[in-house]
Amino acid sequence: MALKNIVVLVGGVGGVKLAHGLAQILPPENLTVIVNTGDDFWHYGLRVCPDLDTVMYTLAGLVDKTNGWGIADDSRAMLAALRRYGEDPWFGLGDQDLATHLLRTQMLHAGQRLSEVTAALTSRLGILHPVLPMTDAPVRTMLDTVEYGELEFQTYFVRYRWQPTVKSIRLDCIEQASVSPEARAALERADAILIGPSNPWLSIAPILAVPGMSQLILSRNVPRVAVSPIVQGQAVKGPAAKLMAELNYDVSAQAVGEYYGDIITGFVYDERDTALNLNHKQVTSFDTIMIRDEDRVVLARKILHWIEE
Ligand code: GDP
Repeated sequence: MALKNIVVLVGGVGGVKLAHGLAQILPPENLTVIVNTGDDFWHYGLRVCPDLDTVMYTLAGLVDKTNGWGIADDSRAMLAALRRYGEDPWFGLGDQDLATHLLRTQMLHAGQRLSEVTAALTSRLGILHPVLPMTDAPVRTMLDTVEYGELEFQTYFVRYRWQPTVKSIRLDCIEQASVSPEARAALERADAILIGPSNPWLSIAPILAVPGMSQLILSRNVPRVAVSPIVQGQAVKGPAAKLMAELNYDVSAQAVGEYYGDIITGFVYDERDTALNLNHKQVTSFDTIMIRDEDRVVLARKILHWIEE
């Protein structure tokens, strides 16, 4: 089977590792990255899209590799200046990073769609692979917590360092969202659809919840394969495992595979885990822990090879 066009759905730091690996082996016309925008928010009047930024900075080779987000060696003079005004700027906007948010906000105010804005920003950074927001409409991931009631995503994730106990998740304004023409076209011509090892509940669920998105993916009779972000009962990074326990799921790769249900036809879990079985689905295990850049390419190649077989 010849796989030509691949679409990968991702959030930020976890999913982008696979997208980056794929981008190093597939030409721009054969790979499209669709990104969660439920984390997007307004901050000091600027539109900040953390997952889109992580994907852009990674594909452009600008990312801070230690954090996995932000721009390498960025300074924080603006944040220090805000503090001089007595502000408590809890979201780490770097000085170079600020340029992205200024330009994005300006383009959005001029009436461009987020897909158009992202295309302009990525091309100016020299990124050739299409990077698409899951929708052009603003959607907000809201978390109902035991300690603080309902919190916007970044307040939960960054301000409170994902420590509050989550009772439920809601996607504000999702009813008004729709799949963009660019994302629709990419999914319609995909020969395989991948789901990166992103947080299923916080990064992938918002993408799948865009009205029409799941139906479109399910209508494609092509391999649809997710990679587990849970390895040996733990998240590689971030709140996925804690969140799974709070939402009463078993914290395991198996539970992630089951959560994706019919959306996927195949599932990749880590070879450190015990063998798992998902009804009517192809499963395989690889070393999915991507530490070095080469690890990303190796895993991307293995997954494409497995799907092709
Ligand atoms: P976020 O929006 O920035 O939190 O990023 P994602 O949702 O895309 O990624 C977060 C998830 O990536 C976490 O659940 C991690 O467990 C997972 N993750 C991070 N690095 C790796 C890795 O190298 N391998 C695997 N399998 N999962 C990873």
